[in-house]
This record gives sequence, structure tokens and C-alpha cells, in this order.
Amino acid sequence: MADVYKLRETPQALALFGRVYLGFRPPRTVNSVLIVNGRVAYAGDPYVVEGFCKVVACEEVDVSRGVALPGLIDAHMHLTGLALSSRTLDLKGVKSVEELRSRVREFASRWTGSTIIGRGWDQEEFPDKRMPTSRDIDDVVPDRPTLLIRICGHVGVLNTAALRALGLESSNDPNLDRGPDGSPTGIVRESLLMKVLRELEPPAEEYMGYVRDEEVSVASQGITAVGFINVPLKLVGPIMEDSVAGRATVRKRLYLDSDALELLTALGVPRGFGNDMVKINGVKLFADGSLGARTAYLSEPYSDDQSTRGSRLVTSAQLREVLEKARSLDVAIHAIGDAALDEILGAVEGRPDLVQRLRVEHASVVRDDQLPRMRGLRVAVQPRFALSDSPWLRDRLGDRVRYAYRVRDLIDIGATVGLSTDAPVEPVSPWETIYAAVTALKPSLSIVEALDLYTRGSAEVLGDPELGSLEPGKLGDIVIIDRDPLEASPEEIRRFSVLATYVGGRRVT
Ligand SMILES: [Zn+2]
Repeated sequence: MADVYKLRETPQALALFGRVYLGFRPPRTVNSVLIVNGRVAYAGDPYVVEGFCKVVACEEVDVSRGVALPGLIDAHMHLTGLALSSRTLDLKGVKSVEELRSRVREFASRWTGSTIIGRGWDQEEFPDKRMPTSRDIDDVVPDRPTLLIRICGHVGVLNTAALRALGLESSNDPNLDRGPDGSPTGIVRESLLMKVLRELEPPAEEYMGYVRDEEVSVASQGITAVGFINVPLKLVGPIMEDSVAGRATVRKRLYLDSDALELLTALGVPRGFGNDMVKINGVKLFADGSLGARTAYLSEPYSDDQSTRGSRLVTSAQLREVLEKARSLDVAIHAIGDAALDEILGAVEGRPDLVQRLRVEHASVVRDDQLPRMRGLRVAVQPRFALSDSPWLRDRLGDRVRYAYRVRDLIDIGATVGLSTDAPVEPVSPWETIYAAVTALKPSLSIVEALDLYTRGSAEVLGDPELGSLEPGKLGDIVIIDRDPLEASPEEIRRFSVLATYVGGRRVT
């Protein structure tokens, strides 16, 4: 048993009795686990733990109503996006511009905030498949700046009040669309959309309150650690303060917006700066857009729009420069299309030092010739994209659909794969993701494989050897669920209930 007898003060001890999975490669179970001062001190026979608890006061938990597992780790999610999305007009499933207008009108009548953000429209669902413009929303919201983001998160439409407030009417930013008369249509893309979104965000303190609420809901679904992607610089301080004050609910590994790299390297911030609850891991940048918006960068034109191969947002040379500058920090690079992946593979060719810092986000389209070159790369994948994208994926990619969401192939060639949701793009629930991994991926994963990738795999993608299993010495992050996932059908997995979540041996939900 690790060093617990040396402690002078009364340790905080949690004893679990019942079926406990320590990890999933291969599945290993014990009948008792003891967490002391936040870490697994012992895993094995209940009588050993009972003996310990006779000497030191333990919080004893009977898990016989369900099973305990290592806490699940979402390698890539946007806690801020999630926080804003629950305070945002939901436009998912809107079937026409007319319906979009009436939803905006209804929201504007009850929302008192100074700006209006909507999210989730998809012109593919509209009869004329036309993107909305400023004109469609100006008479509905004439006064308050309004931004309605497409479901992919890479394209949005502003009303005229927003164009005016942000000084965009006379901007010549290439990511601002213009109509035949030269005036802005209101459509903004990629980096400009990110910038606009940041300018319309709430102030730091209010924003942090939203994030805090969101963490509790994330933990209640069985997630104990997240790769927190695109963290705005202004929230880093409040996030650190929360962790020190004991207010943090889930562990966060931060990936800041890429424009923070200059500052991080100037300050000499090393990878892992922080504490057990919060660490700065690095930065995140985009190599392309999304398949839904036809902005993912493909090596051949889109099958349903021969005029475009999507958007190349960075070149190999630029990526190499960022990776070199990052030194010890991680650089997480969003690449959905195969041509975006070519840029990344080109940037790290022959440079094992750069490979170590690299995380590839999504890798949604991977050609056969690219697969062997991904050996040893860390990749965060989102199996639920395969479910959400299935209605139109073949339209976009044609026969290349066989290159999409190749999680099985990535595992087989020896990439380090972690699972994630990209929430709010997909629901936070890890059980939904596992359901998608075992039903929608082709070839599918087994439940055991999905659980292994959601724990050990994601921990490796985050570069965090203290997470991902309940072997002695690891951090004591545990989720108790109502039934044994290895004895469940895929449909049952989707309906799992989380009975309790512990982070560092402390119950958080
Ligand atoms: Zn993302």
C-alpha cells in the first residue's frame, strides 16, 4: 500500500466495495478500491481495505447496486461553447428561413441580454438550401447585435446591428461575404467568426459562473477530466483560481486559442503548468473547417460542389513554425479533411521532436496512403460525428465516404486514439459516444474498446499518465453507473444512469 501510513494528519480516505473496473485493456476487476488523499492507494481484496478503515476513518461506499469504473475523459470539448450554448438560442432542426425568423423573434422577446447568439441552423434542411443573410433577421432584431452560427461552428450570420457595432460594414476581411452590390451579406467565416464571437462574449466573471455550472453537468454524466479546447485567455486566471479554491468539479487540461502562444512562450510557461485539477497543456489551431459547411480541406473537390475543395487555413510551413515555437507545449490542430491532414503530416515529416507536441483533432477523412504515416500520432476522434453526419456524408464525399471516421484503422496502425464529443457540437454524454462507436463506426468498436479509448486512450492524448485507470498511484477519479457495461447491449448503454462521480476521491455529483 502506497505511503499512507506515513501521514501525520488524518487522511481523506474513500473505500469502495463492489465490482470495480481498474481499466479496460484488458478489462480488469477487483472487489475493492481505496483512495487516500486523492489517489488510488490500493486495489484488490475487500478485507485489506476493511482493515485499513478500522484504523483510519474512511468514507465507505457500497457499489453493489452498479459498477465502478475509472472516470471517463473527454479529450476534446468546449466548456465555454457549452456554457454559452445553454444560454443561446437553439436553432437545431429549423426547417426554413421563415422558421428561423420566428424562433429568433420569440427568443428576443424574452432574452434580456445585450446581444443575441443563436446556434445550430443548417441550410441543408431548408427547401431552397440558401444560407440566411442579415436581411432575413434585421426586421426581427433591429437593435441588438445578433449572431446566428451554423451547426458546424465555422460559419455564422450577423444582423446589421452587429455589423455596425463590430465595425465590419467597411471591413475587407476575406472571411466576410459580400453580395453582388459589394455590401456585406452578414455571413462571416472561420477566424472572423471566432473573433466576432469573442467580442460578443460576456465579461470574465459572468462567463466563469456559466462554466462552473456546466462542469457540474459534465461530471454528472460520468466525465471526470476534459481536454478544454479553445480556452479564452481571459478565463485562464479565473479557472486557476477555482481550482485552488476547491471550486472546480472536473479536471481540465487547457488548450488556449492559438493567439496566446506568443504570450505563453514569452512567459516560459511549461506544458503541464498548474496543479492536478487544472493544467495548461498548450494551444489549439485550425487547419481547415467542417464537412457540413464544405470548408473541410479535401484533396479533391466536394462531390456535391465541384467548385470547391474547402478552405486551407494554414500551410505545412506555418504549422512547422508554430510547432517549433511551442517548445514543450502541445499544439492541437483541427484537421477534418484529408488535405488538411497532408499539411500536418508534411509539417512533422522527419521531425520526431515535433510529433511529440502534436495532437491531431478529428482526422475525419484519412486516405489509405496517410494511415501508416499516422502511427504514433495522438488523435482525438468523435465517433458521434458518424451518426450526426450520416444523412449527407455520402453527398459531400461520394466514394471517399470509406475514408471517413476510420477509428478502427487508426487504432490498428498504432495511433494513440482518445474519444471525445467536441461538445457542444455533439452531446456531452459519453454513453451516446460509446453507442455511436459500437453502432455507427464502420468497422465498429466493441464496448470494451470504446471504454478503453475513453479512459486510457484519452489520458494518453492529454499526455497525462496519472489519469485513465484505477491502478495504485493514479488519481482517484471514479464513476459509478447502474449496470455493467460489458454485459449491456448498445441500446442499453445509451440509457445508462450515473449514480455518483468522484474526482480525486471526493464526490462531485
Ligand atoms: Zn472542437
